[in-house]
Amino acid sequence: HTIGVALDRAVAAFPDREALVDLPSGRRWTYRELAAEVDRIALGLLGLGVGVGDRVGIWAPNCPEWVFTQYATARIGAILVTVNPGYRAHEVEYVLRQAGIRTVVAAPSFRTSDYAAMLAEAGPRCPGLRDVLLIGSPQWRELAEAGEHGDRERLASVGVGLGAHDPINIQYTSGTTGFPKGATLSHHNILNNGYFVGELCGYTEADRICVPVPFYHCFGMVMGNLAALSHGACVVIPAPAFDAVATLRAVAAERCTSLYGVPTMFIAELNDPGFAEHDLSSLRTGIMAGSPCPIEVMKQVVDRMGMRDVSICYGMTETSPVSTQTRAEDPLERRVSTVGRVGPHLEVAVADPETGLTVPRGTPGELRTRGYAVMLGYWDQPDRTAEAVDAEGWMHTGDLAVMDEEGYLNITGRLKDMVIRGGENIYPREVEEFLHTHPDILDVQVVGVPDAKYGEELMAWIRSRPGAPELTAEALRAYCAGRIAHYKVPRYVHLVEEFPMTVTGKVRKVEMRERAVELLG
Ligand code: ATP
Ligand code: MG
Repeated sequence: HTIGVALDRAVAAFPDREALVDLPSGRRWTYRELAAEVDRIALGLLGLGVGVGDRVGIWAPNCPEWVFTQYATARIGAILVTVNPGYRAHEVEYVLRQAGIRTVVAAPSFRTSDYAAMLAEAGPRCPGLRDVLLIGSPQWRELAEAGEHGDRERLASVGVGLGAHDPINIQYTSGTTGFPKGATLSHHNILNNGYFVGELCGYTEADRICVPVPFYHCFGMVMGNLAALSHGACVVIPAPAFDAVATLRAVAAERCTSLYGVPTMFIAELNDPGFAEHDLSSLRTGIMAGSPCPIEVMKQVVDRMGMRDVSICYGMTETSPVSTQTRAEDPLERRVSTVGRVGPHLEVAVADPETGLTVPRGTPGELRTRGYAVMLGYWDQPDRTAEAVDAEGWMHTGDLAVMDEEGYLNITGRLKDMVIRGGENIYPREVEEFLHTHPDILDVQVVGVPDAKYGEELMAWIRSRPGAPELTAEALRAYCAGRIAHYKVPRYVHLVEEFPMTVTGKVRKVEMRERAVELLG
């Protein structure tokens, strides 16, 4: 069914259970109250003339209005286009034009981003753009008030006409490997994905999920909001954008049972000087996803944060997003070291990227996914869609994976990140995993750099633990000697405070490779 129906069902089943808590403002909504906000905005949008299939952009950090807009657009069949809160004027202009956005809902500003000014600048160059609604502005309040007196029967009749396979969302990919692509997703795609993720996390209406990951990305809006909606659980917003201390506080204050994050977020929380002061005893589960999850970090999440049922999810925007997930009943060893097995109603295959033939278990190849979660296509880019999804419906993920005898998968990296040194294939992930065992290393990323003799050499970008002695390339090589194969030992070391990151918390290796070339230049 549609997301609107899912909301109705949650209201019918759990009217007075908390649905949403916004800690920065201290506001909270039950399912009944949430639906009332959603309907006001849905009616307000209908009043503006927004119709089925029209694109409505949302450009804001995490806030309750983001969630209201997500469900309001779903109620009226408008396609929600989630815009990266880190975008600058030229990037938002690209998205406004590429997706043909008619109405945009935006925060007026956030930190150094003046969204209102950037929209004013980009607006005149976007012919399809009719309305800019700034959250909290008089116009926004008028919209909600107009909705108060709107025609509820009309809203209900729009809802009845919507189909589960209609597009409801355009989500741009993180832009880790290049320019973001707009994955077009249906109610069926994302509602089912949220439901299954929630099932495998064992959610019920008693769960309270702390969501510090951005709503603009499927991790927040599907694995967070829709997993909660389909189980009557509650979403807790700790802060508008990731903040380790606010997250730890939110878990303690709201007695959250589940916590989400990309690996770097968990690393920041675990290493916060005040970590021990927060009572995290309510945590039972959570999800780590988005990029390779270091085994050491997973172990600490279980041991020090008490997230005994924590799962790792693997997926991509194009597959709504999750395609594999570890389950609470999997052996702990598997839960910290693999991305689990394929999710319900999906298929995965590991194929030779050249021939497309399935490789034997234990052999690395390109991961391919097929089933209900595969996107409808990239918005208005049929050629790129055809390159990504083949005629048999397989999504070519561009990720390298190994499947073991029991179907557990390991992501060994991205096809584009694989390093070939003197004819040996090196998966940077494996080297990173090993370097994480070094006591002075807080976080590490390994990239290939061009080399005249070997074709490529490895450079380790290292964030040292506070107070640790300066790590030299010689010392690192000595640490590696005899413990990993000689060709996997990084030749260069580059010490940094931070890695270049996307807003979704992924390390931008493309940028690191470019920078590495300059450094060695
Ligand atoms: P772009 O496609 O624009 O370059 P992106 O691929 O990072 O950006 P997303 O769709 O947000 O955009 O991320 C999906 C990718 O994230 C996957 O293809 C995979 O490389 C990586 N990923 C997700 N989860 C995991 C995980 N658990 N372990 C390893 N990698 C993961
Ligand atoms: Mg991608």
